[in-house]
Amino acid sequence: MNTENRNFPARPPPPPFSSSPFASAPPPGVVPPQSGGPEAVGFRPPARPFTPSGPPMAPPAGVMRPGQPPLVSQLPGSRPPPPSFPSTAYGPPGGGGSFQRFPTPPPSGVPPPPQTLAGHLSPPMSFRPQQPMAPVTMGPPPQSMTSGIPGGFASPSGPGFQQSMPGGPQPSYPGYPSNQVLRGPPKPFQSPSQGPPSAVSSYPPQTGGFAQHPGQQNMHPSYAPPPTSNVQGLVEDFNSLSLSNIPGSLEPGLDHTSFPRPLDGDVEPSSFAEAYPMNCHSRYLRLTTNAIPNSQSLASRWHLPLGAVVCPLAEAPEGEEVPLIDFGSSGIIRCRRCRTYVNPYVTFTDSGRKWRCNICSMLNDVPGEYFSHLDATGRRMDLDQRLELTKGSVEIIAPTEYMVRPPMPPIYFFLIDVSFSATKSGMLEVATQTIKSCLDNLPGYPRTQIGFITYDSTLHFYNMKSSLSQPQMMVVSDLDDIFVPLPDDLLVNLSESRNVVEAFLDSLPLMFQNNVNVESAFGPALKAAYMVMNQLGGKLLIFQNSLPSLGVGRLKLRGDDPRVYGTDKEYTLRVAEDTFYKQMAADCTKFQIGINVYAFSDKYTDIASLGTLAKYTGGQVYYYPGFQSSIHGDKLRHELARDLTRETAWESVMRIRCGKGIRFSSYHGNFMLRSTDLLALPAVDCDKAYAMQLTLEETLLTTQTVYFQVALLYTASCGERRIRVHTAVAPVVTDLGEMYRQADTGSIVSVYSRLAIEKTLSSKLDDARNVIQQKIVKALREYRNLNAVQHRLGSRLIYPESLKFLPLYGLAIGKSTPLQGGPADASLDERCAAGFTMMALPVKKLLKLLYPSLFRVDEWLLKPLADLDDLKDVVRRLPLAAESLDSRGLYIYDDGFRLVLWFGRMLSPDIAKNLLGADFAAELSRVTLQEQENGMSKKLMRLIKKVRENDPSYHPMCFLVRQGEQPREGFLLLRHLIEDQMGGSTSYVDWVLQLHRQIQQNA
Ligand SMILES: [Zn+2]
Repeated sequence: MNTENRNFPARPPPPPFSSSPFASAPPPGVVPPQSGGPEAVGFRPPARPFTPSGPPMAPPAGVMRPGQPPLVSQLPGSRPPPPSFPSTAYGPPGGGGSFQRFPTPPPSGVPPPPQTLAGHLSPPMSFRPQQPMAPVTMGPPPQSMTSGIPGGFASPSGPGFQQSMPGGPQPSYPGYPSNQVLRGPPKPFQSPSQGPPSAVSSYPPQTGGFAQHPGQQNMHPSYAPPPTSNVQGLVEDFNSLSLSNIPGSLEPGLDHTSFPRPLDGDVEPSSFAEAYPMNCHSRYLRLTTNAIPNSQSLASRWHLPLGAVVCPLAEAPEGEEVPLIDFGSSGIIRCRRCRTYVNPYVTFTDSGRKWRCNICSMLNDVPGEYFSHLDATGRRMDLDQRLELTKGSVEIIAPTEYMVRPPMPPIYFFLIDVSFSATKSGMLEVATQTIKSCLDNLPGYPRTQIGFITYDSTLHFYNMKSSLSQPQMMVVSDLDDIFVPLPDDLLVNLSESRNVVEAFLDSLPLMFQNNVNVESAFGPALKAAYMVMNQLGGKLLIFQNSLPSLGVGRLKLRGDDPRVYGTDKEYTLRVAEDTFYKQMAADCTKFQIGINVYAFSDKYTDIASLGTLAKYTGGQVYYYPGFQSSIHGDKLRHELARDLTRETAWESVMRIRCGKGIRFSSYHGNFMLRSTDLLALPAVDCDKAYAMQLTLEETLLTTQTVYFQVALLYTASCGERRIRVHTAVAPVVTDLGEMYRQADTGSIVSVYSRLAIEKTLSSKLDDARNVIQQKIVKALREYRNLNAVQHRLGSRLIYPESLKFLPLYGLAIGKSTPLQGGPADASLDERCAAGFTMMALPVKKLLKLLYPSLFRVDEWLLKPLADLDDLKDVVRRLPLAAESLDSRGLYIYDDGFRLVLWFGRMLSPDIAKNLLGADFAAELSRVTLQEQENGMSKKLMRLIKKVRENDPSYHPMCFLVRQGEQPREGFLLLRHLIEDQMGGSTSYVDWVLQLHRQIQQNA
């Protein structure tokens, strides 16, 4: 296997991560790409300059070899080498001469000092290295044990950090395409005699993958344009909206109710799936168009993104569970040259002794153990028993060559803020209760490991050794030279230490219930967690309730300065201020640590910086602004429980291969690139999706089809190393019209929203919104030109059926939380948190967030016999406009993250009484929806339960609002009715008119 990497292209020069003492260590658990290992050698067409969307992580070639033990070998009890994280960004102004007394927490009972600006900006300080306190059995509040001695300030030393980050501290987003440059003169419109092939001829039926192989260099006759003109076909080829009197107001006759709206939600294109039944399900892989252009010039006229959205671990459709394959003694069958896994589209020849790779056309030997005779049609006789040859998605058991160490156990490590606000808000209690309630359901019993660190102005470690009856707590107050006491007993086997863990979770909220410490030594705590976890990796869950204020990684209250909006500096608010966070994320990814950030503060907490940890480790940001357990408790309970119990793939890497002549050139989502095309995903689950864009490498594609194969190499919670493989094929076409016909709006919108969010990290919000608008204009203009030759289009906006919702979703992207309006429309933290969330969302979930459901329920509640079995009848979606709301009605708005119940002013008081009980006339901001003792209330609660169960990835909180209750009504609902014009935003009608005007310019 190691002999096959000769075609691997020259790697980009290694990034100068030399400031990390771990730079030369191989990532454990993953066969590194240089080795020619299982996931290593992709079929690589000639290399092009690569621009990753995350910082590349490739260490110098030749350093990482399989079998080489990790260089980081912390001997038990030994102190690991301190990673150098110079915090030059916070260097003391006076060069280290300033002294300040550590603000000792006041004794219990004394009200905490207000968290002042000065408190956050106090100059850095350090303590003399200090041994930890002797282990103390838990019980007394920790303040009594802290004895920090103010010491001299240690001036930061070490190499300038900024220089050590490739490309400087700002992440570059090279995947964001600049304005399309036509690579040649646009092709003249094809005359009708060369018109687009009909839908039937475009999709030759696949004959079980054993038809002609793609090595045939000539176009298949079925791809030739139909010989006769088909004007009738063209007439019906597009949809249109009549928009007369442009520019200006609408004519009275214009019926905007006929505008296209995705009221059925995300409808995945089905004709394509039917034409290629052996493709993997579209929930795993969705192309932006199911017709790949055959030339660069055609691709440049497409204007929409050419790419895909991949959700490798999506929950399988019912009855279509991904089969588990064990190749046994034959070993996994893969192409010798490009390392493609055997799949339904490979062909067998030479009486079954050879197989041809569908991606690179290589003729491979069939190993003796895998041999089967072929029947008269060339099919293998054993086809019925070979699911890998009939199913587009399989999961393969990986043998030891796919590991550099034994598969890791599932590891859950918790880093929990126990400062004043964390306990007062109730967060600490809800979090510990939820963790305890999930202990039986954490994946991977009996190998699962668990550990905890808590922190305020000091760090608290917990010895959880199974022989103890109570956990022992150790406090470290030296924040400048972090070391980990008892490193062996901080991360323990859950089944062995179960009693100690439960005792710990029970006592933690009590121990800190009177804590008045308002400081947050988050950065040092994070470093400590990293030092505990970096031998094995795992999932790190961070619970942060305030702005990190002490030690490395402390953050300023830079806040949301409205004056910066609209200037060139605007984007800097939305990116991490301190490179510490990105560097920590890079280090964690390297050691298989995935980070989820739970943030709870009612004040600014710099989610832009904290979220960086999740972004580059394949994690997730959960944001509960102003958390109060009485209000947000349920939401946290559900979402944390899902996070802890959902099936998780550990220490994974993902690569997507595609046929010769094309390549994936940029990736968008939460991850880090380990090499040019290998995504490092320390922990991945069914709720994570990734977008990517394709580039044609050759001027002309000569094959008639292009194949794609996603491979996710991971460790399952049960301890098995596995490879999940999804394979799909799409035809290559010569006709732009066909590309538009086969467009997939859901996939396009997923790519666009990620590009737009990335754009906000280097530009103004305005610019990001404009880019999306311009892209849609260009695409629809090209489409108009395509059809203008045959038709008098007049003042009509025309679009293909496949893209009928694209304008509306484009508008919705601009009105989504990360991109909407200006400083007044969303707090900075809210904006950033939504950005991190949307970058990871699968297509269906994203589309629902962009165009949420709005439906009326009062009539249904009054029906005596209505039942819930068919939710579709109840949840009949309405246009997202205020005119959908009847003041006699009760409506539910559901975006997948929030439910809003809107009570019309004239709603029958009986209904309100039934649903709200004694509170029916109260101001609804003070009312929580609870089940009442009557049928109507029970029915509504069942409906809400069902809505939540339909999509358990997040737990939508339920808000009640009555018509006219301002400003809540505006805040909760009206501003989310995206078809309306609200506070300077554009209405759907005006947006369509705007697009149409721009399309006609230079048309
Ligand atoms: Zn191959």
